[in-house]
Amino acid sequence: METHKTAIGVDIGGTKIAAGIVDTEGHILSSLRAVTPAGTSDDVVSAINYLIDKLIESAANISEVAGVGLATAGTVDFKEGVIVQSPNLPFSKLRLRSIIESKFGLPTFLDNDGNLAALGESYYGAAQGIKNVVGLTIGTGIGAGIIMNGCLYRGATGAAAEIGHMVIEATGPRCTCGSYGCFEEMASGRALVRLAKEKIGQGRQSLILELAEGRFENITGQGITETAGKRDKLAIEVFNEVGFWLGIGINNIINIFNPEMVVIGGGVADAGELILAPARQVVAERTLHPNQDVAEIVLAGLGNQSGILGAAALVFDELSLD
Ligand SMILES: [Zn+2]
Repeated sequence: METHKTAIGVDIGGTKIAAGIVDTEGHILSSLRAVTPAGTSDDVVSAINYLIDKLIESAANISEVAGVGLATAGTVDFKEGVIVQSPNLPFSKLRLRSIIESKFGLPTFLDNDGNLAALGESYYGAAQGIKNVVGLTIGTGIGAGIIMNGCLYRGATGAAAEIGHMVIEATGPRCTCGSYGCFEEMASGRALVRLAKEKIGQGRQSLILELAEGRFENITGQGITETAGKRDKLAIEVFNEVGFWLGIGINNIINIFNPEMVVIGGGVADAGELILAPARQVVAERTLHPNQDVAEIVLAGLGNQSGILGAAALVFDELSLD
């Protein structure tokens, strides 16, 4: 009889670390989370170790655990298992894969969270069974993953799929990466907040400022989404503009990759049609046929569990257990 396998998936974020035991069907059997320590990389590694330790203790049968998958923001060298650098974590050239592998004696794999969100969606979410998929995770910035012919496309050093830094407005605002008018500067939560502040700064009235208790620094993407839901004119205008730029980016993605599906997740995706409708309109107007005819633009299916599920899927994928 074939043994029923599981994997431990760990999602390492700037504010929290979430970990879970997942079976090959994508069921999370148990999960834990911890606040990401504010200290050094050693402190963060200790927190990861603690969570994996607790999950192994709770596992019904440890021999069923096939391996550990690690998802992190930032630039990852997949082959070497190294986090080269990460925007919100104290990691620089950290050999995290070998650290975890030698501690627990389990096969361990490490990849970028954008890649793993896409892999998770293709294993267990909105893109199951689909071979050519581009996944976008739209939060403060834009993470991405590309699945070509059923495999993650990682490029020469694992740094592919930085679609968030595709330039879509060459004279646009400066991005955190140093370039100008990057996709994530024009079409993320950051863009929503920037545009809302600009318009309110010009003297326009909006419930957005009321919800932020009159303070500019309290304006958030979530607040703008909530206000747009109340039909606030300015908030809807902001979503139309950001949705336009989202559509421009998706137009480029579809023309390059000819995917069957573009899956959109992350906090900003909670706005649903508020942002997707203007994006779809741009795609309908600008994207080449037949590329646009086969490309569905859909919301992600895994929500905030996409990190754990994608990291576990990486283990099954690498060990060919799916
Ligand atoms: Zn950039």
